[in-house]
Amino acid sequence: MRTQDVLIIGAGAAGSTAAFHLAKSGHSVTLLDKSHKKLIKPCGGGMSAAVQKLFPFDLQPIVEEVINQVNFSWCLEDEVCALLPGQAPFWIVKRERLDEFITTQAINQGAEFVNAFEVKSIKKIGSYWQLTSQSGEQLQSKVVIIANGSRSTFPSEFNLGPKTIHHASTISVRLEGRGNLQRGSSRFEFGLVQHGFAWAFPLTDGVNVGIGSFIGKRALNSVAVLDKLLPSLGFCPDEGERTEALLRVWNGHSKLNGEGILAVGDAASLCDPFLAEGLRPALLSGYEAARSIDNWLIGEARDLDSYSIAMRNNWGKSMAWGRRISQVFYRFPKVGYQLGIKRPTAPKRIAQILSGEMGYEDIASRVIKRLLFQGS
Ligand SMILES: Cc1cc2nc3c(=O)[nH]c(=O)nc-3n(C[C@H](O)[C@H](O)[C@H](O)COP(=O)(O)OP(=O)(O)OC[C@H]3O[C@@H](n4cnc5c(N)ncnc54)[C@H](O)[C@@H]3O)c2cc1C
Repeated sequence: MRTQDVLIIGAGAAGSTAAFHLAKSGHSVTLLDKSHKKLIKPCGGGMSAAVQKLFPFDLQPIVEEVINQVNFSWCLEDEVCALLPGQAPFWIVKRERLDEFITTQAINQGAEFVNAFEVKSIKKIGSYWQLTSQSGEQLQSKVVIIANGSRSTFPSEFNLGPKTIHHASTISVRLEGRGNLQRGSSRFEFGLVQHGFAWAFPLTDGVNVGIGSFIGKRALNSVAVLDKLLPSLGFCPDEGERTEALLRVWNGHSKLNGEGILAVGDAASLCDPFLAEGLRPALLSGYEAARSIDNWLIGEARDLDSYSIAMRNNWGKSMAWGRRISQVFYRFPKVGYQLGIKRPTAPKRIAQILSGEMGYEDIASRVIKRLLFQGS
């Protein structure tokens, strides 16, 4: 059996990023995905432009819209508008295009891509990892990256990621035409969704609408929300194809690597528990995983621990505060809206969070104090 340096399970944002960087460093990489080409992938596609620094190639070809204005509302009223300053801090992409684009860049660097390979089991045989597909095919490698998203069962099998998995309930709707969304603007609606919010992000020829609920396991009641939200955006209440999904969100610092194995993206529970931002940590974790694996494979590091440390420092520290803000904000959302979103300084802060210029830790203690002491 041929032995690759690295096998990557899942060609989403995280897996394809790791494949690109590892192939670029000269390692033999096979990227595996269970699906054939995806037509629509459920995701808002909102992404900080700060991710550009993780790639030597230009991401602009797949940017559908550059957001310079965010409109917030409470039950479709009491609107607040935040202007995002200058440097294009927030982009909207179609997820299926982003994944395909980075995968193609990885292939151009020499990575092998195997479609319709659904990994069923991961086993350590001696010093190699052996992956077996649903149809019994086997592949072998020195390192395995688990990048197969929120429904992955592999991280817990290898004690990677948080012990208790926390999910957000989501629904995603892709609409044709732009309704009444103005060029460069996006919408966040807080009052209609219990313990969460709804969003509308414009695409060149459509709109991504979504709903996320972040506390508890209640049903989303998405029909009632969309019945009101879609007409406010200029669409019929029953338009668009709907996809429900559970999204793993960050739930405490945890080790993300073992010996020759690590988890990235949603499989590692990295998604922001307040705003469901999962693309930036997916891309960042793919990048950091590749760096750590490269050092290990060339003998400059004894283990892959530098990956867990980098993700803790560069993402987890902010998410620890994001989780606290989420727990307080979504319990008292009306107060949160009045005291958080509607504050005169909020637009600038929101712009800085969305652009990645500022983390939750920079604003957290003030926000939580405000919500707790004036919110009861
Ligand atoms: C409704 C919704 C809206 C969202 N909106 C946003 C947003 O606007 N901005 C943002 O930043 N984040 C958003 N997110 C979060 C973001 O989509 C995720 O965090 C991101 O997709 C994580 O990427 P990933 O590569 O880790 O996983 P995924 O994109 O899920 O990729 C996993 C890949 O693994 C493959 N796979 C699965 N199982 C196997 C297997 N056994 N063998 C082989 N392959 C397998 C899948 O086919 C898939 O291609 C949203 C999520 C949802 C659900």
